Amino acid sequence: MGWETEVLVIGGGPAGLAAAIAARKKGFEVTVADGAKPPIDKPCGEGLMPTAMEALRELGVEIGPGDGQVLRGVRFVDATSSVEADYLGASGFGVRRTVLHQRMVERAQECGVNLLWNTTVEGLSVEGAILSGVVMKARWIVGADGIHSRVRNWIGLNGKARQEMRFAQRRHFQVQAWTDCMEIHWGQSLQAYVTPLSSDETCVSLISRDPQMRLEDAWREFPKLASYLRDARPTSAERGAVTVTRRLRQVYRGSIALTGDASGSVDAITAEGLSLSFHQAIALADAMEEGKLESYQRAHRQITSRPNTMGWLLLLLDRYPSLRRRALRGLASDPELFARLLAAHLGEASSRFLAATSLRLGWQFLTA
Ligand SMILES: Cc1cc2nc3c(=O)[nH]c(=O)nc-3n(C[C@H](O)[C@H](O)[C@H](O)COP(=O)(O)OP(=O)(O)OC[C@H]3O[C@@H](n4cnc5c(N)ncnc54)[C@H](O)[C@@H]3O)c2cc1C
Repeated sequence: MGWETEVLVIGGGPAGLAAAIAARKKGFEVTVADGAKPPIDKPCGEGLMPTAMEALRELGVEIGPGDGQVLRGVRFVDATSSVEADYLGASGFGVRRTVLHQRMVERAQECGVNLLWNTTVEGLSVEGAILSGVVMKARWIVGADGIHSRVRNWIGLNGKARQEMRFAQRRHFQVQAWTDCMEIHWGQSLQAYVTPLSSDETCVSLISRDPQMRLEDAWREFPKLASYLRDARPTSAERGAVTVTRRLRQVYRGSIALTGDASGSVDAITAEGLSLSFHQAIALADAMEEGKLESYQRAHRQITSRPNTMGWLLLLLDRYPSLRRRALRGLASDPELFARLLAAHLGEASSRFLAATSLRLGWQFLTA
């Protein structure tokens, strides 16, 4: 390999690998550089929405039954109410982050992506980027370097962001699965987000506005969850992360595009980050094939619009506990409405359907 490539992807997490695979499928010569080496772990709820599974299939990434747990739907639980709904049509999937990363690395290798691990990108140059002190020339550069993206900073797109930050702790437990849904347990001002990964392993992520909050401090908020996990053996250490709601007005400059968390993100509670990354990757490859990134900007806005709205709604429920209690009570008395909201969340609903759902939600809220 010479120090030249058509597409240089900075960051080999899920977004970077998806972007690399999508670009390679269009026939580009692609190099990925990441400062870490696989399988790369990162605190994550480890739930793949049906939309994420659909995009992975389009990219040719195979996640088999032995890799994790098929998820039937979503359940919301609080101290007094519980409501669940199935995904329409396709299923979701719970998969360990390291397993997902490994499958994506394998697919990138199979496609002929040039993978440079333990290789931190130190900056940009006129012709490309600086890797281990040496310039690699590239026609296109993709910044997929995550939530604290330096590429975003280097190309001056940081300043235009609107953002809100929360704090998360993730841990795995060996426990017999009690659910085949992704569960969100709502506490007073925090949530525990539960994803079964197999018949005997479950991932729990705690999300709050308090950077000091740890899982063991939170059990009293979630008596039901605590009862499931009382005798469970932890199978990983607790790991912290931040989750940021960030919207950028622009996601490219010249021939440098941002994707995944680097290009803006939704709060972890939406479970949409990976799906967004994979769909953005496909749109970005289309735009690079066209030879201009304007269409990527438009597609990016469209891809993120619905998850941004859902994220905003869910954060309202976090911020106003009495609103959340009424909303959950209303939904528990009308589970079909919850199914409609889930369909809307996943983009499976028309605008008429959405308008009818909003009216019904308003009515349930008034009468709850
Ligand atoms: C608590 C929590 C729970 C979540 N739960 C879910 C969920 O259930 N479902 C879901 O879909 N999403 C979830 N998300 C969101 C999801 O984890 C992210 O959207 C996803 O990880 C974004 O991937 P990425 O590739 O953009 O970033 P990352 O995974 O952060 O990857 C960035 C990569 O860039 C590399 N890098 C950084 N800087 C450089 C550099 N200068 N040079 C070279 N390499 C560099 C890093 O080593 C890293 O590998 C959750 C997030 C959190 C915090």
